[in-house]
Amino acid sequence: MKIERDGQTVFPVIVSNSSSLKSVNFFLLKEREMLYLIDAGMNDEACWNTLLHTLEVNNLSLSDLTGIILTHHHIDHVGLVDRIVSRHPIPVFVHKEAVPRLKREPAFLEKRADFFEKLYKEMGCGEAGEQQARFVREAIEKNKDNALQASLTPIEDDFLTSLSLRIIETPGHAPDQMALYDEKRGWLFGGDLLISHISSNALVEPDSSGNRMMTLVQHRNSMKKCLDLKMNIVFPGHGTLIENGESLIQNRLSRIDKKAGKFVSFIENGSATAAEIALRYYKNVYYDQFSLVMSEVIGHLDYLENRGHVAKIKVDGVWQYTIQP
Ligand SMILES: [Zn+2]
Repeated sequence: MKIERDGQTVFPVIVSNSSSLKSVNFFLLKEREMLYLIDAGMNDEACWNTLLHTLEVNNLSLSDLTGIILTHHHIDHVGLVDRIVSRHPIPVFVHKEAVPRLKREPAFLEKRADFFEKLYKEMGCGEAGEQQARFVREAIEKNKDNALQASLTPIEDDFLTSLSLRIIETPGHAPDQMALYDEKRGWLFGGDLLISHISSNALVEPDSSGNRMMTLVQHRNSMKKCLDLKMNIVFPGHGTLIENGESLIQNRLSRIDKKAGKFVSFIENGSATAAEIALRYYKNVYYDQFSLVMSEVIGHLDYLENRGHVAKIKVDGVWQYTIQP
């Protein structure tokens, strides 16, 4: 498959799998003599072989690549970077917030582990929270070899003008997430901002100084920002290409309001902490997918707090949420 318009061509690299994400997608983008790879899949044979195959059937090769641009630092978007760059040294462009994460800087990761330990305690998560915080801390040592070796270039504001792409910061799903937008063609390379068949998670994360960000509020703002764009095609990190970007965003925004409304009714009916709300809404999924569930609940509580619908006070070290009149 290729998509061509006004002298620019996208060759999607789509690697299907059996997960709920359905596929891992990344994209070759060719304009004049330049060939950029937007995202770099998983570090596995399926992604590697599909990339090589996509290049080959389009009479291209790895050595034609000009550079790699990463929409965000998640493992299923950066996997092939080192394999490519070790064979064909090219710049790898990232958001500056991606650097400590991709390089797995120990000082940052320790700060991040402290952050989760404190957060889960304050959200009333008890043993489940302590277990997850231990897991995050142990992963620092366990995954230390996963640090990217390639040198990373934090992206400059308008560096992509030669490529007729502009960067739109879209934090929320990840603090470093950025979309690449081609105004002329109405093309948006969105990373995981929008996925056609599932709503993407606004994962709770600290910023590079260790402070908590309101990630769901960010995610909402990022989606709203894209509503102002003409979007003919959204090229997502997973699932099928999106031609109804605007209505999909409207749908995602209204689902956030609906879920937030549900949490308000829980608070009215006596659930006071984030963990209590999580258990009541998600039941056993609270234990099975703890960090995702807590991101959802904390995110929606932030959103409600931000709008003045709820307030929180700390009692014995745990945040208690109440309805604001
Ligand atoms: Zn992601």
